Amino acid sequence: MNLVVGVDIGNSTTEACVAEVGSEGVSYLGTALTATTGVKGTPENAPGVLAVVRTALGEAGRTIEELDTVLLNEATPVISGLAMETITETVITESTMIGHNPTTPGGEGLGVGTTVSIDALDTADGPVVCVVPVGWDFDDVADILNAAISRGLDVVAAILAGDDAVLVTNRLTRQIPVVDEVSAIQKVPLGMLAAVEVAAAGRTIRTLSNSYGIATVFELDPDQTRQISPVARALTGNRSAVVVRTPSGDITDRRIPVGELELRGAGKTLRVDLDAGAEAIMDTLARVAPLDDAHGEPGTHVGGMLAQVRDTMADAVGGADVAIRDVLAVDTFVPAEVRGGLAGEVALENAVALAAMVRTSGSRMRLVADEVARGLGVSAEIGGVEGEMAVLGALTTPGVDRPVAILDLGGGSTDAALLTRDGDCTAVHVAGAGELVTKLIDSELALDDREIAEAVKRCPLAKVESFFQVRHEDDTVQFFSEALPPDVFARVVALTPDGPVPVDTRHGVHHVRKVRREAKRRVFVVNAVRALRQVAPGGNLRALDFVVLLGGSALDFEIPDLIADALAGYGIVCGTGNVHGREGPRNAVASGLVDAWTRR
Ligand code: ADP
Ligand code: MG
Repeated sequence: MNLVVGVDIGNSTTEACVAEVGSEGVSYLGTALTATTGVKGTPENAPGVLAVVRTALGEAGRTIEELDTVLLNEATPVISGLAMETITETVITESTMIGHNPTTPGGEGLGVGTTVSIDALDTADGPVVCVVPVGWDFDDVADILNAAISRGLDVVAAILAGDDAVLVTNRLTRQIPVVDEVSAIQKVPLGMLAAVEVAAAGRTIRTLSNSYGIATVFELDPDQTRQISPVARALTGNRSAVVVRTPSGDITDRRIPVGELELRGAGKTLRVDLDAGAEAIMDTLARVAPLDDAHGEPGTHVGGMLAQVRDTMADAVGGADVAIRDVLAVDTFVPAEVRGGLAGEVALENAVALAAMVRTSGSRMRLVADEVARGLGVSAEIGGVEGEMAVLGALTTPGVDRPVAILDLGGGSTDAALLTRDGDCTAVHVAGAGELVTKLIDSELALDDREIAEAVKRCPLAKVESFFQVRHEDDTVQFFSEALPPDVFARVVALTPDGPVPVDTRHGVHHVRKVRREAKRRVFVVNAVRALRQVAPGGNLRALDFVVLLGGSALDFEIPDLIADALAGYGIVCGTGNVHGREGPRNAVASGLVDAWTRR
């Protein structure tokens, strides 16, 4: 009888599987997992391995003294890096737009008129958009406006510096749209034609977020309409907005030069402009497959992005040569404050995220194995190649037989492997996985908090409607007998196993859900298809029958469904693995290592 532990060191997680191997076969005794220490495939992994082996043995009720051998995976030295760069920038060179979302604008509707300061209403004739500087009391503002209206002045809207639009509108004899909290009100040009729009509660503006709506209001010609289209884009989704027509006012939607990506492979070198977008980049990549290396034009953003990935990796692997062997480009957007804005306006700027996968010239797993052997006082072997081991583990899923393909959905890379009926195995790794999804959610929602982004990725959302009631993202309502914590009241929350966690965003549940699902689709559906094409006979997905999903991201509550939906069209049976009929999609590589060792 031999007691062995298979250990899989991943980019994110180190997993172990304890088994007793005797003449009658294998009995699996226990599993464990812990966060990987250091960069995968480097000696820094040893502490994580020691910890996970100890836990797994404890789980199995065995001691280190009884242990014979630790089996490590030949960790393909693929390490992933991420970079993101904005490729557009909205700049207002003169005050033409106020498109922010004060929490409580007043009134409702659209008002179009000339901007006039509140202390100059006496000499004005309408229609007038009244501008109220800092320091005015809401009672005085309401009195002056009411007096002007009763005099016959056509006051159609108001713009306030303070936060009292509702207090003002409640006191007015005529209902007009009022936008407040305009911090830089002194910059609002006077004597200009302006449009003010406020939507009903729960709705978004319709006219000023539409290029032709603005063109109608200001009687613009087609050239002018083209110029103002970034304004409409920046105002989309707001509940209130102001647009001022100034003679020389300009808002530009500048494209930031980000540089060219140089892709080398298949005897060719092709270049593609990063701001051509993800689809063009991925098309170019497909034409040079298999990729030998990628570079960014020095001195440009893309040059910086790739150099950064390469440097981190070179450090991690002890200065060995590193080559970028795969790239995943994803179109994304970043909410950024508009330069020149008057009220902290935010525009969604286009951005490109790149995940790059690096392969180093030599494996340093031997060093990891030596360190582990020293730490535990037992022998440590390198038991097998990750992809092949994953397939062996997947075969322990009930209902699975050869030929079978697996998709290992990890943290840094998405791996595919195919095992044919005759036992031949091919494996590939492509860049981009769970970490990239978390990063996209983090930046698209401007959370700036990786932990919250991870919670949004993993857990369903809800809106806390009262202290005793939440509305789930599928619109069902749940009641609680004990009061929810006050900090989640009226907030969008992620329903984590430890309770509701507030998500700091001004967006509603449905928008957050959309961002979450889109991020998963753009990374995992794209990568599933891309990776499977590389292992499928003749690159034809229709030649595959069974696909088993493995890895941490296969635990996700919607990623497996998104992938299965995308593959259904090719007649593929796709489902989440259940290693040994009990471990779920986890532990495939660690168990595969044990199986491979048994069969030697
Ligand atoms: P690796 O093999 O690269 O170490 P794993 O297989 O451990 O990676 O997968 C890590 C990824 O799985 C991370 O991106 C993590 O966010 C994700 N993940 C882990 N558990 C869950 C879960 N319950 N739901 C969704 N994603 C998860
Ligand atoms: Mg893994």
